[in-house]
Amino acid sequence: MGRYFEKGYQTNKTLKSFPQGIHPHEYKEQAQREAIQVLPTPSQLLIPFRQHIGAPCRPVINRGDSVVYGQLLAEEGGFVSTRIHAAATGRIKLLNLRWHVNGRKELTAELDVAEDPGIPRTPDAVDWSVLDRLERKEILSRIQEAGIVGMGGAGFPTHVKLQPPETKPIEIAILNGCECEPYLNADNRLMIERSELSVFGFKAVMKVLGAKTGIIAIESNKPEAASLMKSACKGHNDLTISILQTKYPQGGEKMTILAATGRRVPEGGLPMDVGTVVSNIGTSVAIAEAVLWNRPLTHRVLTVAGSGVKKPGNLLVPIGATIGNCIEFCGGLSPDACALIIGGPMMGLAITDLDVPVIKTTSGILVLSKEEYGLPDESACIRCARCVDRCPLSLLPSQIYRYAQRQDWDVLKKDLHLLNCMECGSCAYVCPAGIPLVQHIRVAKALLPK
Ligand code: SF4
Ligand code: SF4
Repeated sequence: MGRYFEKGYQTNKTLKSFPQGIHPHEYKEQAQREAIQVLPTPSQLLIPFRQHIGAPCRPVINRGDSVVYGQLLAEEGGFVSTRIHAAATGRIKLLNLRWHVNGRKELTAELDVAEDPGIPRTPDAVDWSVLDRLERKEILSRIQEAGIVGMGGAGFPTHVKLQPPETKPIEIAILNGCECEPYLNADNRLMIERSELSVFGFKAVMKVLGAKTGIIAIESNKPEAASLMKSACKGHNDLTISILQTKYPQGGEKMTILAATGRRVPEGGLPMDVGTVVSNIGTSVAIAEAVLWNRPLTHRVLTVAGSGVKKPGNLLVPIGATIGNCIEFCGGLSPDACALIIGGPMMGLAITDLDVPVIKTTSGILVLSKEEYGLPDESACIRCARCVDRCPLSLLPSQIYRYAQRQDWDVLKKDLHLLNCMECGSCAYVCPAGIPLVQHIRVAKALLPK
């Protein structure tokens, strides 16, 4: 993607934000106005048993079993784990190891689809009395049974996140509608098309946590979403909409908390250490569907964009459809196609296989042209300090890079705070020497002795 700050961009400095960060070209216009379309269920779904952070699920079905839409396929494999359900009716053809978006082979169920359930009918009105009727425990159990995880990319099981220890009371819940990665519009479209469900899910989160205050954080480049979310919040005096400056990585959990509340999550700490919990928009909609209608998480909304795809759009996709199914629905690859990325261009992962399945955390499929991808040739560090200037966590990326080359783990851990890096990629984006700093940092984190 284009590497330098968008020309002529005027940031509104009066809006709340965090220090430093970058403003890459947004490319949001490609899919911003495209209403969510339903991807018809393909003839086969590939459903991996690892779609979240934590222990992989334990399959409860076998090869040859017939399953119906919504049936449990796998149960929690530990405390930090979740469930997986069938997104269609059919027969389990195989359980085997297949390529996964994480770049490894993972145990996967191949489901031959006999019947496309379509999208389960949603009642016209949201029954808000459900929230008054249900106890906190019952809401939590519906969330757990639905197999909900953080759908912004992290994939942390939601029912675990919503049970902080009693020593960490949650005062403020934050609904994160920033979606700061270029190209992505899934949360934007959900806020526009499912605003009431987003707010309902967020209120369910607040009830479970006992949070008295709810802040809905939205970047300033989503005025339509902000206006509709504001209307959906009418009558809820405990909710406020906070419009944040459009800047990357505004949607990073720690950045959103800092910008929206002024609270800084300590190094190595969690949002609950400063009395907050952050929920994502897609996750909130899934929570609403689970609490209102006991609906398991079998589908998700994602953006397909980039100049390498013919008709960019936003799709509601059954979990287990392949990346290729989504691209084909969007008109197929254009002659410009150069790189395939899962997620956003800043933090996403490049893959080469179109048969990899969509999982619960797949927020985007990007097919970039050579011009958009545009990685410069790498040269030696010129000590310009741009990476240091832009790091939102005030780290020293050039020094981390240097000490990572030497594998000096003590300095990396104790002096350079390697583990605090959120891998946002801002440092690599601004580096004029084209050094892939974030990739070096990821490798160093993986190699760091425990
Ligand atoms: S060092 Fe880490 S947190 Fe800082 S800019 Fe680079 S990737 Fe982002
Ligand atoms: S931005 Fe690149 S060239 Fe400049 S100091 Fe950082 S690593 Fe070196």
